[in-house]
Amino acid sequence: MSATSERIAETPDKDGAFPRLTEDQAKRLETEGERRPTHDREVLFREGDERYDFYVVLSGKVAVIDGYGSPDERVVAVHGARRFLGELGLLTGQAAFFSAVVREPGEVLRVPVERLRGLITQDAGLGDLLLRAYFLRRELLIGLGAGLRLIGSRFSPETRRLREFVARNRLPHRWIDVEQDERAEAALRELGVSPDQTPVVIWRGEVLRNPSNEELARIVGLSGWQTPRAVCDLLVVGAGPSGLAASVYGASEGLDTMTLDAVATGGQAATSSRIENYLGFPAGISGAELAERAAIQARKFGASLAVPAEAAALTYEDGQYTVALTDEREIRSRTIVVASGARYRRLGVPRLEQYEGNGVYYAATLMEARMCAGDPIVVVGGGNSAGQATVFLSRYATEMRLLIRGDSVDGSMSRYLADRIERGSTEVLLNTEVRALEGESSLEAVIAENNLTGERRRLPARALFVFIGAEPHTRWLSGNVALDRHGFVLTGAAAGDASREKGSGSRRPMLLETSSPGLLAVGDVRSGSIKRVASAVGEGSMAVRLIHDFLEGVHQHPHHSP
Ligand SMILES: Cc1cc2nc3c(=O)[nH]c(=O)nc-3n(C[C@H](O)[C@H](O)[C@H](O)COP(=O)(O)OP(=O)(O)OC[C@H]3O[C@@H](n4cnc5c(N)ncnc54)[C@H](O)[C@@H]3O)c2cc1C
Repeated sequence: MSATSERIAETPDKDGAFPRLTEDQAKRLETEGERRPTHDREVLFREGDERYDFYVVLSGKVAVIDGYGSPDERVVAVHGARRFLGELGLLTGQAAFFSAVVREPGEVLRVPVERLRGLITQDAGLGDLLLRAYFLRRELLIGLGAGLRLIGSRFSPETRRLREFVARNRLPHRWIDVEQDERAEAALRELGVSPDQTPVVIWRGEVLRNPSNEELARIVGLSGWQTPRAVCDLLVVGAGPSGLAASVYGASEGLDTMTLDAVATGGQAATSSRIENYLGFPAGISGAELAERAAIQARKFGASLAVPAEAAALTYEDGQYTVALTDEREIRSRTIVVASGARYRRLGVPRLEQYEGNGVYYAATLMEARMCAGDPIVVVGGGNSAGQATVFLSRYATEMRLLIRGDSVDGSMSRYLADRIERGSTEVLLNTEVRALEGESSLEAVIAENNLTGERRRLPARALFVFIGAEPHTRWLSGNVALDRHGFVLTGAAAGDASREKGSGSRRPMLLETSSPGLLAVGDVRSGSIKRVASAVGEGSMAVRLIHDFLEGVHQHPHHSP
């Protein structure tokens, strides 16, 4: 749509992204802001503005425009009386990803964003309406490819890093692949950039050459870094469900709380398109929405959330922990919640990403089982989770195969599971590894290879379940905390036993406490955890209660040195 063509019809509200305020809600907002007339073509705020206010259209029309003033300008939506402007970034402090331009003069109400934040925490109806609309608008912007432009090659690791960072942080962007997209060459020529200088990010008309994640976070207002007090009460490392829960409960219960995440808020859960088994959401909720809501809630209570901020090393001295970040900043805290989670090990095969969530799964719950009922299924892995999944899924599959890299199941899988698999109709392929995946729009077959003979087989599979272990994010603990043999953090009695075995103390750690006093571990990073969103959230909230006890001196032990 060109800049000059008029388009003043209001965009219909199809699914709650563009709701109209009630008269009462508009009146309520008026007490917090000021009315003012608008004139035609007036720009209320511009794409890239680091901060902007909340506007309600009282009369006339305002257009939301992507790429305003550029040859690619597009109208995203047009709002009339009692509709409001903005999207999720307004509440989270991010820059504007579009411009708002008056298309029919009238009147607007401007409410400073701090006032708006206060108001939505008091008025549940308004808060819900806004949050839902803003979340849907963010999805819409992402779907339209509005906002940042990222130009780079699919084969460049730096492009992949930037793509992962913008995707995990749910930043509206368009990726232009220099390998395939015809527009890439012209765009680069216009910017005076040669293909070997890519990746570049275009933002506010400026070209950023291969920016670091930190740089990108700073320019879009994502980072949220606030210089912490000399010593915080609680430092949470990791902002997945467990870390976000610890942040919400810590900050709401009066602890001076700081939370870091190396990549994005939401952790693994944010990569799940629909979480069906989280309490209170009968229709399911997308992991991204759950993460956004939790992050807003944590900030509302005063937690400071810094992204990206990666913990690199941990030291303990005089009753205080110091966490050094990869960029050499340091944070001191009296207590720490380790919530750095785990990453499910993925198969090293081409085009894996294309099928993830659409044929390749890392959990075998009823939900996944229903999706592939009546289909051929392949499970990969020789441990108990692979065994449990095979037993469970074989009830649903037409053909069931279990692929194990080693030459037997003994030692890695419980006998009762191995027996059940042997008694059933599952074909077990030993010494077998997945080499390739096939299928047009979804998975159709797995190419498996015998690692002794090199013989390959094409196995029909509409679903592939991968259980080849999880790698915990514990390297940053620098050997200061007792871990189990797979690298997960020991807590409670197991941590006490490990300390005693090493002769490094006789204290009895609290539940969730590690071998180090006041350092607790929650969620997937903890040895023996359940690996579910709900249990991660439960542990994050429990940890805060225990930290209060610790800070009040209930469980401290004078003779321990971590
Ligand atoms: C695709 C998928 C779908 C899933 N679906 C479901 C489901 O439907 N239902 C369900 O109950 N569970 C589901 N799960 C499991 C669930 O997501 C996890 O159990 C849960 O996210 C664990 O939360 P966590 O906070 O302990 O860790 P994580 O979610 O792993 O979060 C850890 C965070 O710590 C950060 N971090 C790591 N190291 C550092 C460091 N050094 N410094 C700073 N930050 C760091 C990471 O960037 C990450 O954001 C799913 C998992 C996946 C992968």
